[in-house]
Amino acid sequence: MRKKRLQGKKIPRREFLKKGAQGGVILVASPMILRGVLGSVAEASGGEVMSIRDLGRRDLEQLLEMALNRGGDYAEIFAERRVYTRVNLEEDKLKNIEYKIRQGVGIRVIADGKSGYAHSDDLSMEKLKETAAVAAYIASGTAGPARKDLRSGDRPDKYWRTREPLDGVPESQKAALAWRANRTARDYDSRVAQVRIVYYDQFRDIVVANSRGLWAQDRSPQCWMMASVVAQEGGIRQRGFKSMGGRVGYDFFAENTPEDMAREAARQAVDMLAAREAPSGQMPVVLAAGRGGTMFHESIGHGLEGDGIFKKLSHYSDKLGQRVGSDLITVLDDATLMGKRGSLTIDDEGTPGQRKVLIEKGILKRFMHDNLSAMQLKVESTGNGRRESFRDMPIPRMTNTFLAPGHDDPQEMIHTVDSGLLVKGISGGQVHTMTGEFVFRVSEGYRIEKGKVTYPVRDAILIGNGPEVMQKIDRVGPNLDFTLGFCGKAGQTAAVTEGAPEFRISAITVGGTKV
Ligand SMILES: [Zn+2]
Repeated sequence: MRKKRLQGKKIPRREFLKKGAQGGVILVASPMILRGVLGSVAEASGGEVMSIRDLGRRDLEQLLEMALNRGGDYAEIFAERRVYTRVNLEEDKLKNIEYKIRQGVGIRVIADGKSGYAHSDDLSMEKLKETAAVAAYIASGTAGPARKDLRSGDRPDKYWRTREPLDGVPESQKAALAWRANRTARDYDSRVAQVRIVYYDQFRDIVVANSRGLWAQDRSPQCWMMASVVAQEGGIRQRGFKSMGGRVGYDFFAENTPEDMAREAARQAVDMLAAREAPSGQMPVVLAAGRGGTMFHESIGHGLEGDGIFKKLSHYSDKLGQRVGSDLITVLDDATLMGKRGSLTIDDEGTPGQRKVLIEKGILKRFMHDNLSAMQLKVESTGNGRRESFRDMPIPRMTNTFLAPGHDDPQEMIHTVDSGLLVKGISGGQVHTMTGEFVFRVSEGYRIEKGKVTYPVRDAILIGNGPEVMQKIDRVGPNLDFTLGFCGKAGQTAAVTEGAPEFRISAITVGGTKV
């Protein structure tokens, strides 16, 4: 059944519950059972199964026509079908395997900077026309440019390639990957007390059409696997975590084995059992390759997203062309990296994914835009319009965001520290994304004394401000590495990667347990 939403207008709770209870196109069953169900449905309906791919040019143009019939600057149709599998292994047991299919259509109208949005998981033209009419409501009485005819723009899948797509791999084989990781983590050390393994993959098909004549389709996979390990000794418990994945196929696991992933998570947990109290105060901090990416994503990247820039909420709103960091700082958001979690052939508005240099040698060069923020600021979209699902309006989001590698020697940046901290893992924290103020929890940290890494420390936190840290980075190494991220913004989650080579902050506040 359809669910409609108009920005700024709430559906009364009772009405919402009624709509919710009517359900949607959400199936929870094993693929074997599901194939049986779909088979019988297909037979009963004479071989026709409604799919977003059935939406033809005339359907899309008719819906865009309806969406603009009260006026408006821009109308867009976004259709999505997502099939996903999730395996959860915990306490040495296969807790559950989920297999779900979700599909639906979201229709948006923009008029005078206001957005009307409605969505439906009923794909009949009758319901979709009603959905278009709801989205159109926002535009009452405004004028706008005429709709252009759709030009088909099927784009080749550019940023992922696989010999063995995961949708052809049986669930038993996916569960076997989780079992292999579980066994490795448990066998690593007798002090390993808890192991949790999650395997997730999805295939997402999208169709986007808009009143500017754009008509594009895309299909992309997403796979994610993680190991979370708790080690225990006496009253001390420590956690280790490692994840891997991207827009990959089953062949990915030949080189990136579940064993290596699980061993790394177990190593972190066991090594940290010997951790001592963390030092505190201002000191130099070295971040190991890949570990500081979160800092750039959270305390710099969000401040460069077009919606915050337009609203002048960001520290960077009026700093284009100005120096915002040391010469060593070049930050990119690159949707064109092969097989990465945040890579995009097209974004969720049909704009091709792009490589953007946001900050070059310390100078602020560009912001990240979706269509709305681009319209508001009179620039072009940078292909950063993303949404969690057809139920959500797109907003400016990052893709693969990273600090570009430099030329400094990773050993030298430790050897020249008299008293400091080496950070090999950050496990969360709090960030004010617009001002860049942050508190990050160090999950794996080591004391540096007289140029040497001496012992692991527990419960250290890094307290600082992104824009200030950018001025204090005095070494950047050559080994760029990435971590997988789940970026949350406005209630929507986006798949991203965060990257950085090893780098050093000359002075930052470390909050520790030892004064
Ligand atoms: Zn984020």
